[in-house]
Amino acid sequence: MEMKEVKAFGAQSAEAPLNQLNINRRAVTPQDVAIEILYCGICHSDLHYARNEWSDVMPTVYPCVPGHEIVGRVTEVGSAVTKFKAGDLVGVGCLVDSDQSCPDCQEGFEQFCPNMVLTYGSADKHTGGVTYGGYSESIVVDEKFVLRVPENIDPAGVAPLLCAGITTYSPMKHWNVGPGKKVGIVGLGGLGHMGVKFAKALGAHVVVFTTSPSKVEDAKRLGADEVVISKNAEEMQKHFGSFDFILDCVSAQHDINAYIMLLKRDGNLTLVGAPEKPLPVAAFGLIFGRKSLSGSPIGGIAETQEMLDFCAEHNITADIELIGVDGVNEAYERLLKSDIKYRFVIDMATLKS
Ligand code: NAP
Ligand code: ZN
Repeated sequence: MEMKEVKAFGAQSAEAPLNQLNINRRAVTPQDVAIEILYCGICHSDLHYARNEWSDVMPTVYPCVPGHEIVGRVTEVGSAVTKFKAGDLVGVGCLVDSDQSCPDCQEGFEQFCPNMVLTYGSADKHTGGVTYGGYSESIVVDEKFVLRVPENIDPAGVAPLLCAGITTYSPMKHWNVGPGKKVGIVGLGGLGHMGVKFAKALGAHVVVFTTSPSKVEDAKRLGADEVVISKNAEEMQKHFGSFDFILDCVSAQHDINAYIMLLKRDGNLTLVGAPEKPLPVAAFGLIFGRKSLSGSPIGGIAETQEMLDFCAEHNITADIELIGVDGVNEAYERLLKSDIKYRFVIDMATLKS
């Protein structure tokens, strides 16, 4: 198979800082779209993966190139491509392929396909190695996994929608977030701040739970009706038994039982945050009130397009801090301190020639 060497930014081991390196991208096949990457968001999953923190479920293969919040311009399309042409503004999220034949794919739920191919860290049938993500100058993707990006919203602020956006939008749609519903968002980071924007746009009463007093004013500006400092037991107690739905967007160990207690009868707590270690669950918190606890991964391709179109209509983008590739390692350290307002996005033009 014909290959092209391109510049990228990645890690050689769990302990090493990320650095510039070269990787191979395949030449376009008839179904493929080649994309010059303009912006790539930094998801906390990139950090978990680069440092091999998910070794039990998804051991990292090095060198690794993270990045699954990609916005760029089409530079070339394969002979059978019908949806895109050179010059189009497009996006790529966490998925670059699936088998297209399993029951999940047929229902448009590629995120549950047993043979899905993640944008980084999956076996790459084209190169024989692993897939490399968006911290790079270009990528080649099957057109079925490429999204149309509306031209009327800021492309750097769109990048985080491809993961943080769909990961919060999808469970809210599934659990019928809307007018008359009381919705909690736990953790005001990249995912959480998108969760607040969507819950508000969908018409819910939104309560943010944060460990960071410095984020209270921002939470309100982003759309929260109320903000609770989660370390304050008295403030938490005021919301006992009152939520229809809570979305937990926390990246580290924390007590989910404290949130299960805040659900009302038949309420649901969905985990999208994916901490390194298991979280203990007290059975009685769920039993009294017939509450449910679930998880949710990203979203399917059709729903991701629906989410992007919803964002264009409601003028929703992420609040970002634009950095160069040289800032990636520092950005990771700041993520660990919850010091981000509210998504780092890399300007990919800063890769050195
Ligand atoms: P992030 O920007 O780092 O935000 C995480 C937030 O969690 C922090 O800003 C902080 O909010 C809160 N937090 C951090 N440490 C905490 C602690 N020890 N106790 C309580 N709260 C704490 O991360 P992200 O990119 O939004 O990702 C969040 C998680 O979702 C990660 O684990 C990521 O891997 C996962 N994820 C899952 C999916 C999926 O498909 N399910 C997709 C993308 C990401 P406050 O300052 O407000 O407390
Ligand atoms: Zn992500």
